[in-house]
Parts: sequence; structure tokens; C-alpha cells
Amino acid sequence: MGLSKTIWTTPSEFLRIERPDNPVMFFAPTVLQATARRFLDGFPGLVTYAVKSNPAEMVVQNLVAAGIQGFDVASPAEIEMVRRLAPAAALHYNNPVRARHEIDYAVKMGVKSYSVDSRSELAKLIEIVPVEGAEISVRFKLPVAGAAYNFGAKFGATVELAAELLREVHEAGFIASLTFHPGTQCTDPMAWDAYLRAAAGICANAGVRARRLNVGGGFPSHRLNDERPQLDAIFELIGRVADEAFEGAPPALVCEPGRGLVAESFTLATRIKAVRDGEHVFLNDGTYGNLDELPITGIIDRIAAVNGDGETRRGAPRPRVIFGPTCDSVDRLPGEVALPEDVEEGDYLVFSGMGAYSTATNTGFNGFGRMTVATVMRLGA
Ligand SMILES: *Cc1c(COP(=O)(O)O)cnc(C)c1O
Repeated sequence: MGLSKTIWTTPSEFLRIERPDNPVMFFAPTVLQATARRFLDGFPGLVTYAVKSNPAEMVVQNLVAAGIQGFDVASPAEIEMVRRLAPAAALHYNNPVRARHEIDYAVKMGVKSYSVDSRSELAKLIEIVPVEGAEISVRFKLPVAGAAYNFGAKFGATVELAAELLREVHEAGFIASLTFHPGTQCTDPMAWDAYLRAAAGICANAGVRARRLNVGGGFPSHRLNDERPQLDAIFELIGRVADEAFEGAPPALVCEPGRGLVAESFTLATRIKAVRDGEHVFLNDGTYGNLDELPITGIIDRIAAVNGDGETRRGAPRPRVIFGPTCDSVDRLPGEVALPEDVEEGDYLVFSGMGAYSTATNTGFNGFGRMTVATVMRLGA
């Protein structure tokens, strides 16, 4: 992954001058910092960043500059990186299943907050983590819909088990907290409503007041032209329902967005390799590259088609099958995607809102995957 040293004005300036053959990710630090401020101003509690959604060091650095003081980390490598770039930041090790050597490393690096969703993993934490000042958050799940993809399939205790674990954490002398994740790209704010009320029920059943309540990530990014995410409404609902459910004395709230913080600050330019017999569009990037997530989370239709001179195509929309460059037939964007009917070989398809789960999961499958990252003053034309 090459990082260009120059700062460009816009993606189209870069495309016009460089005419790149490989995919290019355009990063706008101004957009990332503005999004961070939106969370810091709007969310009624501590805002942390889920590093896995985009672990680029320049992302972490810009978030720190914008005032983010906590990070959700899932592995020793993420812990090492954030400690190096942001020595004073709080680290929340919220991957509920860890090897013993990973817990040892976290302790050595001063991690003071862990999540857990099972008896076996809680026993490991109690054995290895020094109790003094350490927090263990019990992660629970509910059978609720609303997200693009359900995280409860892998992690989260039932509400019954969560009450038992919360009591056990408390009795072992740790700071007892609760956490959940409503599922990524959660466009329905009522998912948080259900989880917050369930959290109050768990505390009541356990007879333990949770110190903090981490409401997860899941905050939606703008993927579809016709569906703008309602972040402020979600923030308002979380504050109001936490207050109601805990009768005016809620635990301190924490959130850990990945996608919602980072997606909007990157735009991806792909190039059309071929329009096969005037029909199917083949790109130089696909589902083994930066578009990895689309078959699972759904299409991003904020796509502009730009010719080699940097001019936007204006033809009438025509639905097309879009394939990636590898020889694998699953390397295809979901459904059919409306593109201007005058797109041609050599044009660029420029996808907005591409910062999350894109570069992080880009593979080198079939010899593709080489890309450039370019910093721009602003995104959009
Ligand atoms: C992935 C993850 C997040 C971030 O999820 P987004 O949907 O990207 O906001 C937050 N917390 C945990 C524990 C995660 O695993």
C-alpha cells in the first residue's frame, strides 16, 4: 500500500493528473475530524473508536487530534499500535475471547478494561488480570433486528447468564460494567432502546449497579443516496432511554463506533477494466479487495462515474452487473447497480463513504490488491 506524500485538493484532481491503474483510497482528515467532533458533541458519554474498522495509523492520529481519548482494541497488535500512537488513551479490550498470552500482554501494556460473555473466559480474566482498578464488562445479546448483520451470532451472553456474570465480576472485586453491540450499520434506533432497557433488567436481577454501560458500535454510515443516517436522533434516544430505564441514575455511558466514525472520511476510486460486450462492468477492485464487505452489508450506491479527464458522466442510470478483477465468480457486487449509461472502459467509479472494513480486509488474492492511499483536502468533486 503506497502512501503519497503530496496533499491533493480533490479526488478528481488526482485522477485527472495521475490516471492511476490501481485502486486509490482518498483520505480526508478534515472529514474524519469533523465526524469525530459530531460524536464528541452529540453522544451523552465517552466516545471510543473501534480500531478494527480501519487500523491505519493516520486514522488513529487524526482521531486523537480531534479529541478521542479511548480505543476499542481486539488483539495485541492493535494494543501495541494504539499505545505507541496515543500513550495516554484508554484501551478497552473488548474481544470477549482471548488466549492467555494475549491477556498477559494486555496486562503488561496497562489495559484496564475487558469484556466477557462466558464463565470460562471470566475465570481466565479473574486469574490473570490484577483486580486493582480493573473493569470487566459483561457483554449480553438480545434477539433484535435492525442492523445490517447480526453480531449476536458470535458474541453475547443471554440476559440470564449476564446477570450471573455481572454478580460474579462484582464479587471478585472488579469494576462491574455492561456492554452490548446492536450489530453493524444499525439504522433502527429502537435496537438501542431494547438493549438499554434489558441492561437495566440485568442490573436489577444481579442486584449490582453497573459502573458503566457501553452501547457498542453499530452507528450507521451514509451508504445509500436515499437513506441518510440519523446520528443525532440515535444519540438523543440513547440518552433519554438510559435515563428512563435506570430511573434517572444511569451508569456512565460509553460508545465504541468504528464505521460511524471512519466511513465518511474515505472515498474509493476504482477503474473500469472492461465493459464486456457492452454489458457487464469489470473493475480493478472487488470483494477480495476494498469492496469486501458489500455482499454482506449491502451495496453502497453513492457512486460517481468519472472519465479520464476527470469529468463526471451524466448519462441516464442503467442497472449493470459489476464484477471484481479476480477469477472467482463470487467476486461481484450485490444485485445490479445503476450507473450512467455512457460509462466506458478506462472510466473511474468513485465510491463515497468507504472508510470502514475496506482497506482493513483488502487481500492479495489472485495477484490483485495493490492500491494507493492519497490524502486530499476535501472529498467530492
Ligand atoms: C466491530 C466492533 C465495534 C465497531 O462496530 P461498528 O459497527 O463498526 O461501529 C464495536 N465494538 C466491538 C466489540 C466490535 O467488535
